[in-house]
Amino acid sequence: MNKGRFLIVIFTAVLFQNCGNNAAKGKPSSNISLPIEEYSCLPCGRSCDDLVSDRPGVCNECKMELVKKSSIVFKNILPKDLYGFMLQTGPENIVLLDVRTTEEFNGTAPDKFGRLKNAINIPVQQLEGRINELDAYKQKEIIVYCSHSHRSPAASYLLSQKGFTKVTNLQHGMHMWQQEVIDKKINDSLFIIQ
Ligand SMILES: [Zn+2]
Repeated sequence: MNKGRFLIVIFTAVLFQNCGNNAAKGKPSSNISLPIEEYSCLPCGRSCDDLVSDRPGVCNECKMELVKKSSIVFKNILPKDLYGFMLQTGPENIVLLDVRTTEEFNGTAPDKFGRLKNAINIPVQQLEGRINELDAYKQKEIIVYCSHSHRSPAASYLLSQKGFTKVTNLQHGMHMWQQEVIDKKINDSLFIIQ
């Protein structure tokens, strides 16, 4: 056996002995770690949604509470994909939930972005208190939208926490609808201009 090979054998033997000793003494091995819970801000539709923390607290950017990332389970959909999703799912299985103010919903607010046909309006600030109004729709696909997709992610999160399992947030919000959805047939079917 040459010298180099001999040293490797000795080194390996010492290494194994050390591992054995640690195990015998019950020392935790350094390469075993518990899964770390990750936290991110209560979804606000801003870039800070992608930041991850290893502990609870408050988001430095949006000042929203940090929640367990594993509890954020709602889906997202782009305006251009909504019509196809509705056809596929069956319009009768879908509820459109507008979480803007009543004035925005009715088109009496200064910003007029339009709204979706047959949508229900419950402003996000009232959603928790009025959640029983949605009890009948627990088995349906709920599409949540607002103007800029900043309120609708928080509303989607709340619904998913309250036992609604099929919740989808409309990304970008109504202010982008007319730029992103240009098909006349889709707009005739879904969109009310204000
Ligand atoms: Zn945030």
